[in-house]
Amino acid sequence: MKKINIIGGGISGLASALYLRSAGYDVSVFDRRQKLGGVANQYTEKGFTFDTGPTWYLMPDVFEKFFSHFGIKPGIDFKLMELDPSYRIYYDGRSRYDIRKNPQKNRIAEIILWTFSTHFEPTIMAWMILGGFTGSVIDSFLGATVQVAYRENTSGKITEKAGRGNFHSRHSLVKGIPFVDNDMVNFMSISFAGILMGGVFFFLYG
Ligand SMILES: Cc1cc2nc3c(=O)[nH]c(=O)nc-3n(C[C@H](O)[C@H](O)[C@H](O)COP(=O)(O)OP(=O)(O)OC[C@H]3O[C@@H](n4cnc5c(N)ncnc54)[C@H](O)[C@@H]3O)c2cc1C
Repeated sequence: MKKINIIGGGISGLASALYLRSAGYDVSVFDRRQKLGGVANQYTEKGFTFDTGPTWYLMPDVFEKFFSHFGIKPGIDFKLMELDPSYRIYYDGRSRYDIRKNPQKNRIAEIILWTFSTHFEPTIMAWMILGGFTGSVIDSFLGATVQVAYRENTSGKITEKAGRGNFHSRHSLVKGIPFVDNDMVNFMSISFAGILMGGVFFFLYG
C-alpha cells in the first residue's frame, strides 16, 4: 500500500487524510501540537470554554458532501443544534450584541446597541446631564432677568402678553425685554447650553 504523510492535523489535513485513506492509501498525519484540529479548537480558562477558531456552521453543503462521502448524514448520525442567539459579542463588558437567527431581531438589536453604545456611554451620559443642568441654570437666570412680564392695568395680574386695545385693556411692562417670552427663554437656554457644552467638549476631546 502506498504511504502518504500529511503535515498538519487541522481540518484540511484531517479531511485530506480521510479522503486518501478511503482511496486506499496508508496515511499518517503529523502535527507539531499535541492536539489535532488546528485553529478549530477550544481552550478552557477559569471555567469558561473558548473557541479558538470556527464558530459558524458555514456552507453546510460542503460538510454534507464531505460526510456523505463516508456514509455519514449530518443531523442524523450526529446531532446539530440551532442556537438562538447564534453568537454574542460583548463590548467593554458594558453592552452586548446578539446575532439572532431571525434577521429582523438582529436589526432591532442593532438599533438598541447603537443607541446604548452611542448615547448612553457613561462619558456622554455625564455630558448630557451636565448640559441639562447648565440649560436649567441659564433658563432660571434668563427667566429672572430678561424674560418679559406685564401687569394687566385693570386686574393687576402678571402676564407675558403685551395686550392690545384701549388703556384699560393694555398692559404695563414690569420687567424684561418685550420679545423675550417664555418660548424665547427656552430656546436661548437650550442654544446657550448646547453651544457651551459643545465648545467645552471639543476643547477637551476635539
Ligand atoms: C478566529 C477564526 C474564526 C473562524 N471562524 C470560522 C467559522 O465560523 N466557520 C468556518 O467555517 N470557518 C471559520 N474559520 C476558518 C477555519 O477555522 C479554517 O479555515 C480552518 O480551520 C483551517 O484549517 P486548516 O487545516 O487549513 O489550517 P489550520 O487549522 O491552521 O491547521 C494547520 C495545522 O498544521 C499544523 N502545523 C503547522 N505547521 C506545522 C509543521 N511545520 N509541522 C507540523 N504541524 C504543523 C498546525 O499546528 C495546525 O494544527 C475561522 C478561523 C479563525 C482563525
